[in-house]
Amino acid sequence: MQKTNIVILGAGYGGLITNKKIEKLLQAGEANITLINKHDYHYITTQLHKVGVGTACDRKIALSIPELIDSNKTKFVVGSVSNVDAQQQTVLLESGDEIPYDYLVISLGFEVATFGIPGIKEYAFELRSFRSSKAIHHQIIKQLSLYKEDGDPSRLTFAVAGGGFTGIEMLGELAEGLPKLCNEYGVPFDKVKIVGIEAADSLIPFFGEELISYTSKVMEKHRIEIFTSTKILSCTEDAIQLEGDMVLPCRTLIWSCGVKANSVLEKFGIPLVRGKVPVEKDLRVKGLENVFCIGDCALFMKDDQNALPPTAQVAMQQAEVCGENIVALMRHTNVKAFEYHHKGSVASIGDRTAVGKVGSFTMSGWFAAIMKRVIENRYLFVLGGPSLVLKQTLFLNREPI
Ligand code: FAD
Ligand code: NAD
Repeated sequence: MQKTNIVILGAGYGGLITNKKIEKLLQAGEANITLINKHDYHYITTQLHKVGVGTACDRKIALSIPELIDSNKTKFVVGSVSNVDAQQQTVLLESGDEIPYDYLVISLGFEVATFGIPGIKEYAFELRSFRSSKAIHHQIIKQLSLYKEDGDPSRLTFAVAGGGFTGIEMLGELAEGLPKLCNEYGVPFDKVKIVGIEAADSLIPFFGEELISYTSKVMEKHRIEIFTSTKILSCTEDAIQLEGDMVLPCRTLIWSCGVKANSVLEKFGIPLVRGKVPVEKDLRVKGLENVFCIGDCALFMKDDQNALPPTAQVAMQQAEVCGENIVALMRHTNVKAFEYHHKGSVASIGDRTAVGKVGSFTMSGWFAAIMKRVIENRYLFVLGGPSLVLKQTLFLNREPI
C-alpha cells in the first residue's frame, strides 16, 4: 500500500509544532512527512527586535531546522513555495519541483502591511524575518559610521512606526542597545534621537489605562520622543512626512504598523477573506477535505464578527489540533474542533521591563520581564525539550554578539 504523504508548508510556529505533534503520534514509516521552508533555520520571531539592534547572538534567534526534527520521520526540504494545486494535490516550488500530498498544512506566516503608503516598501525597514531584522542592524551601524564622516543629524534619528507590541518592543530595545553601539562606533549617544510614531491616541491602545501610562513613563525615562495621534503619510530615504505638515529628517524608519497574511496565498486559487484562508472549526480550509491552514495565514472566526489575532500563541495552539486532526483522518477517527484559550500577552520594553495582562491581572516592570522569558523558554521547551532550553539560555548567553 502506498504511504500517506503529509506536507507542511512553512517551519514557523505553526508548521514546526504541527510537525512535532505528527512525529509524536505516528511511528517511523507510517507516513511520509515533508516539511518545506524557505531557509534551513527557524527564527524566533518574538525576538526579532533583538536582531534589529544586535543585542542577541544570531544562533539564539535562528535555530537549525534539521536539529529540531526527527529525520527518521520527517524529510526537510529547503525551498520556496510558489503555488498549490488543490485539484492535483501538489505543491509547486520556485525551483520547479512538484511535491504531491494527501494532507497539506498551510502555515506560511505573515508579511508586513504597508497599506500602500508611499515610500514604505522602498525605504522603511521591517521586523519580518531574520534577514529583514539583520538589515536593520546593518543600517544602524552604517548610519553611526557615516555620521562620523558628515555629521548629518538625520543619521542619528531612529524612528519606529506603530505603537503596538512590535513597536514598543523595538523602541525599548533601541533605547537599551544604542548606547553600547554608539560607544563602539565613537558616536555621542546624547546626539541620538529615538522616536515612536503612532496613529492612535496612545501607545498600545488596546491594553488599558494603567499599562499605557506605565509604558509612556518608561519611554519618557529613556528619552524616547513619542508622537501619538500622528499618521505617517509617506517616507523617503532621508525624511518622514507626518500628518499636520510635519517632516522628520530621518534615515532609519522601522515600520511596525501591523501584519497581513503571506501574499503567496493569492496564487493558490483558494477564495480568500480579508487576505486570509477561511477555515472551519477543525482548521480545514473551507471546501477542502484534506487541506489545513493555521497561524497568520488562517482566518479563524471566534464569533460572527471577530477573527483570532495573528499571534504565535494562536499558531501554536492550532498546530497541536491540526497535527491531531491529520492523524485522526488517516486513522478514520473523529476530528476535533479547535478552541482557543488565551493565556495572556506580555510585551518587553528592553531586557529589564515589560508590560502584560493575564486575564484581568495586569503586570509591569521586572516581574513582567521575567514572565516574558518564561514564555520564551516554554516555547523552546515545546520545540526541543530541556536540552534546547539549556543550550539557548545558559550556553549561548555567554557567546559574544
Ligand atoms: P511564521 O512563524 O511566520 O512562519 C512562517 C514560515 O514560513 C517561516 O519560517 C517563513 O520563512 C516560511 N515561509 C514564508 N513564505 C514561504 C514560502 N513561500 N516558501 C517556503 N517557506 C516560506 N506573537 C506572540 O504570541 N507573542 C509574541 O511575543 C510575539 N512577538 C512578535 C514579535 C514580532 C517582531 C512580530 C513581527 C510578531 C510577533 N508575534 C508574537 C506574532 C508571531 O510571530 C506570529 O503570529 C507567528 O510567527 C505566526 O506563526 P506562523 O506559523 O503562522 O508563521
Ligand atoms: P498591531 O496591528 O498590533 O499595531 C500596529 C500599530 O500601528 C497600531 O497601533 C496602529 O494604530 C499603528 N499604525 C497603523 N498605521 C499607522 C500609520 N500610518 N502611522 C502610524 N501608526 C500607524 O501590529 P504589531 O504591533 O506589528 O503586531 C502584529 C501582531 O503580532 C499582533 O497580533 C501582536 O499581538 C503580535 N505581537 C505580539 C507580541 C507579544 O505578544 N509580545 C509582540 C509583537 C507582536
